[in-house]
Amino acid sequence: MKKVPLFIFMLAFFFGLMPVITISAQEKQSDDYKLRMELYKKTAAPSLIPWYFLAAVDQFERQIHKEIPEGRVTAVRPEQYFWNGLGNPNQSDQQTPGIAAMFNGWASDGNGDGIADRNNDEDVLATIAAYIASYGHTKSDFKIALWNYYHRDLTVQTIINNAKVFKHFGTIELKDRDFPVPLGANYSYRSTWGDARGFGGRRIHEGTDIFANYGVPVKSTTYGVVEIKGWNKFGGWRIGIRDIFNIYHYYAHLNGFEDGVKVGDVVKPGDVIGSVGASGYGPPGTSGKFPPHLHYGMYKDNGYSEWSFDPHPYLRKWERMARN
Ligand SMILES: [Zn+2]
Repeated sequence: MKKVPLFIFMLAFFFGLMPVITISAQEKQSDDYKLRMELYKKTAAPSLIPWYFLAAVDQFERQIHKEIPEGRVTAVRPEQYFWNGLGNPNQSDQQTPGIAAMFNGWASDGNGDGIADRNNDEDVLATIAAYIASYGHTKSDFKIALWNYYHRDLTVQTIINNAKVFKHFGTIELKDRDFPVPLGANYSYRSTWGDARGFGGRRIHEGTDIFANYGVPVKSTTYGVVEIKGWNKFGGWRIGIRDIFNIYHYYAHLNGFEDGVKVGDVVKPGDVIGSVGASGYGPPGTSGKFPPHLHYGMYKDNGYSEWSFDPHPYLRKWERMARN
């Protein structure tokens, strides 16, 4: 724990606030992971849909909804007509199992209370599992089911990635982060997001530049899957990693890639993916048009569109975390 002035600590302790708040927030988060995992596994058993498929859909939706509805720990929210069926005169959130099916609705009763409730975790997961299972049980069946549910390539790709990461690590509790260059290296960076760029017409700077020497290792900051690797005339040798939080991480101007790293690989925080260089601003192989640095960009997807945001505050945070 960081040093807190004694009188503040005593004051907080006197009112009984601080210890309670810090402990319960952490415990709640950990409990939620446990509860969710139990729900995924419980739903997976009868439906034969792997738990990590269900977890992957839930993870995607958790990033696009601001709040989880009261009384729930999972975030999947099927649409009304998907739940009830389009021609069903009863469009309430609570269906009698079997009635919705007559109208091609998917509402299922997962917890066995005789009601298919659109606001109940078990009922929603059982419904999603039944829907996916209707396409089959392979990865490509899963992909088709997702496409017909979301009608969006990036959403399907993100969920498939999430499933791959969860399966790989065997858990959904993946909270670690890392700073993209070793703390022992000689590096510097400041906030330059939004600055004007010289090369390639009117562009703004969509990232943070971390200046370091040629060859300093570049590490993944998060859990995710390598989505892009190769040359781009602006970024030079660059790698794109999509993480499990609907965020795309872009590492550019690399000197080269780490041996064996390829598109589709699952990575974790700290995995070396390449090294710092000065490639870019021209045809393949162009280098040295600027001092060596890692350009690090972050792009958030909300399920409809993707946009760049400032990585600088996150880099400062991960740097602090890595130092501790
Ligand atoms: Zn840059």
